[in-house]
Amino acid sequence: MLFEPYRNEPFADFTDPATLTRFRRTLEDVRGQLGKDYPLTIDGEHVTTGQYLESRDPSRKDRLVGRATKAGPREIELAIDAAWRAYEGWSRWSMEDRARLLVKLAAIMRRRREELAAWEVFEASKNYLEAIADVAEAIDFCEYYARMALTHAVPLHSYTHAGEENTTVFQPMGAGLVIPPWNFLLAILVGTTVGPVVVGNTVVVKPSPSTPIIAAMFMELVAEAGYPPGVINLLTGDDAVLGDALVDHPRVRFINFTGSVGTGTRIFERAAKVQPGQTWLKRTFLEMGGKDALIVDETADLELAAQAAVTSAFGFQGQKCSAMSRLIVVDEVHDELLERVKALTEKLTIGPADENPDVAAVINERQYQKILGYIESGKAEARLVTGGGPAAGDGWFIQPTVFADVPVGATIACEEIFGPVVAVLRAKDFGHALEIANGSMYALTGGVISRSRENLARARAEFQVGNLYLNRKITGALVGVQPFGGFKMSGSNTKAGGPDYLKNFMEMKTTTERF
Ligand code: NAD
Repeated sequence: MLFEPYRNEPFADFTDPATLTRFRRTLEDVRGQLGKDYPLTIDGEHVTTGQYLESRDPSRKDRLVGRATKAGPREIELAIDAAWRAYEGWSRWSMEDRARLLVKLAAIMRRRREELAAWEVFEASKNYLEAIADVAEAIDFCEYYARMALTHAVPLHSYTHAGEENTTVFQPMGAGLVIPPWNFLLAILVGTTVGPVVVGNTVVVKPSPSTPIIAAMFMELVAEAGYPPGVINLLTGDDAVLGDALVDHPRVRFINFTGSVGTGTRIFERAAKVQPGQTWLKRTFLEMGGKDALIVDETADLELAAQAAVTSAFGFQGQKCSAMSRLIVVDEVHDELLERVKALTEKLTIGPADENPDVAAVINERQYQKILGYIESGKAEARLVTGGGPAAGDGWFIQPTVFADVPVGATIACEEIFGPVVAVLRAKDFGHALEIANGSMYALTGGVISRSRENLARARAEFQVGNLYLNRKITGALVGVQPFGGFKMSGSNTKAGGPDYLKNFMEMKTTTERF
């Protein structure tokens, strides 16, 4: 093995006063750098168009985090040209050398991890721990995929045939498109980029218009690491201009997308159409939403259950694809658990992310309005237990909200809200709870809190989710430890951070020589 054994990047302990003070100082430094303009990166060059997209702090609406250059049709062509030009050389680098460069990128990120986390506090309203965890995950993706890439550098084993030599090798595919969401603004952007890149592909990255500044900062790290020009290109801008145009482009070889089911299915459909001049079938990887459930049965440790529920539901304001949005409780313990969940929820602090609350602002006005709309439909469909509206402040603050007596078919029990809203559903028994949990079009994460071996075993077999957690929270998958990704409308199950992830971005070629 070229590198030291893989291990997850540690988070930071903000209960330690020295760590807290240091991070607050970093936040101050970064605050002094807010409000600048950022370019696109095409072929290793900074490109500006004179048109900008504003990124504002969701917790303090009047604070400009920065302005990112808006790309247009011309920049799309330039970026795709650059990616294919770079592919010629990059695809011929040895796997070892590409892996080394990725480990270097991780080292640069690690040296700047607090600074990057501070940017996330301002751009996405993550509290300190959520921000550090996101940067740590980005580092993990680099370290893990660098090591996994090496396992694909050797030919695949096949049986022998008399008089012949048969060799099957992996090769990269070409220039692809990376479309990450805003919620894990660095981690998913980095993971979905460096995965295809380390095995020899080149990419055009189109980040979410909600978090373009962290993407521009990532390009600084890419340049510092010494990636050849054109291997990773960045196009920021409006989805209306960039989205379909990039997806439809005949020279895009693959699309690595993470986001909502609406966008994902649109990409799936458009990418399936072979455009004039296109000489391949585009491969699409579509990791989408969730309506994640935690089941609590009558044998459960109810304090553990309440804590797991509240942490899973309201961490980062419920804006995780893995967030618990359905709490399914067996009748016998329903009322007692609900009381505990209510009490813990009401203890959560709400405030601007730079003050490190439990719950900060949601990402933008569109999400804010959408979540409040769901809360209103919840009031009509169910019983409001706590929360139920906006919270005070100069940003997009929403109270952590819990609804009980939610009917199985209610809107708030079926649709992904992607905010701090929980639907509590009552089940007759464990079997009924499983039936409710599996009755969703999504199958991303899920969990069970139980002391019953029988129920835990049944959940392992029958709970249809990509990531099942027993007796713990249902968020926070670790790269290399809990390969992440779901089934059904939650996506194509690429299992980010898993041993087979990189194979998605390669083709297999078999050579037979008869002697
Ligand atoms: P989104 O679908 O709105 O956007 C995702 C990305 O697609 C963004 O970069 C966006 O700019 C881009 N986009 C929008 N319209 C497009 C178009 N027509 N063509 C091409 N690209 C387009 O999702 P979001 O709000 O950024 O992210 C939240 C969603 O992501 C939630 O549904 C969440 O569950 C999901 N998510 C899933 C996972 C997972 O691993 N399964 C992880 C994180 C987030």
